[in-house]
Amino acid sequence: MGLIVQKYGGSSVADAEGLKRVANRIVATKKAGHQVVVVVSAMGDTTDELLDLANQVSPLPNGRELDMLLTAGERISMALLAMAINNLGHEARSFTGSQAGVLTTSTHGRARIIDVAPGRITEALAEGAIAIVAGFQGINQETKDVTTLGRGGSDTTAVALAAALEADVCEIYTDVDGIFTADPRVVPSARKLKTVTYEEMLELAASGAKVLHLRCVEYARRYDMPIHVRSSFSNNEGTWVVKDHPEGGTNMEQAVIAGIAHDKSEAKVTVVGVPDRAGIAARIFQAIADADINIDMIVQNVSAAATGLTDISFTLPKTEGSNATTILQRIQGEIGFSSIQYDDQIGKLSLVGAGMRSHPGVTANFFSCLADAGVNIEMISTSEIRISIICRESDLDKGVRAAHTAFDLDADQVEAVVYGGSGR
Ligand code: ASP
Ligand code: MG
Repeated sequence: MGLIVQKYGGSSVADAEGLKRVANRIVATKKAGHQVVVVVSAMGDTTDELLDLANQVSPLPNGRELDMLLTAGERISMALLAMAINNLGHEARSFTGSQAGVLTTSTHGRARIIDVAPGRITEALAEGAIAIVAGFQGINQETKDVTTLGRGGSDTTAVALAAALEADVCEIYTDVDGIFTADPRVVPSARKLKTVTYEEMLELAASGAKVLHLRCVEYARRYDMPIHVRSSFSNNEGTWVVKDHPEGGTNMEQAVIAGIAHDKSEAKVTVVGVPDRAGIAARIFQAIADADINIDMIVQNVSAAATGLTDISFTLPKTEGSNATTILQRIQGEIGFSSIQYDDQIGKLSLVGAGMRSHPGVTANFFSCLADAGVNIEMISTSEIRISIICRESDLDKGVRAAHTAFDLDADQVEAVVYGGSGR
């Protein structure tokens, strides 16, 4: 007998039918002899609808109240799911994040889990019940207030609980069959991965792949908790996120590239005509950091000798764009640069694979396939196992498909089925 934590996303429990289908799966796992802890997201697009409502009553909703509102979404699904399981003749008990012992920092809207004290969950399991936990929420012990972990945070709840309970596996149920070599909506011939390593998954998630919450992968790596990402609409084996690819695995395609991620959520800021002196870049990025803005890529060229001036470009989330340009305008006089350019029509394309470390020529192949596809590269950044480029947003899908083919990732027949969800 093992202990399994299962997480069901919003599209898996979008309506009463979905809840009943999921209840059947949970009961089947229990009947197979396992102890089952379930983490559930809000039904369908509930979280977005609650956010819309909040924005209708206030342009800037209070953080504490917004968390109070949003956590209601998961409470609805957890209680309904417990009822559906009870109706199948099995005992299920639902718990809010705070009842389940999910202790977080106090930052509303993006709290981090500090500790999990799942006493009531172990109690319920010991008494033979199935425990259902509301995802994406916790409580701060100092303020005694309810918090949320940021959009998509239920994945992190699931892995954190799995680690605290020393579960055998954390299963993340979603509306696709696993993790694919690229987004199947852009690349219909995308291939399902059998395994992906924590470090590859971290790079993919940070580069825009939306299957798993970034922090959930960080958590899984820290506790070495295997994650099985699979569909709640089929019985197919999904993708295992683990420490290492199995020795001599059949995943030949992973020898070099595990997957391709793309991201349309960033914008580019260029500070034009910056004096090329020590301390100037520090001043610019300190101002940005003081506003709590996370930047991604940075490019600075050598200055033209005659002018002693250079340009600095960096990328950041589009949502921070106007904030960043306002801040830079404020220090323009002090630094003495000539202007600021803002461009939100960019796309980021990232190639990720642990095999890159030992395979020369990946960059050359990547750039030449982009050239053949007529995609112009505007910025480049790399890590040990990732190459990312910025191009025109309108060229992005074309670039993803070109790279997918160039690195032999295309499946012979279509493998990717998107079963549900609105993609919100
Ligand atoms: N319901 C929350 C959201 O939509 C949390 C989650 O689904 O993981 O972001
Ligand atoms: Mg959701």
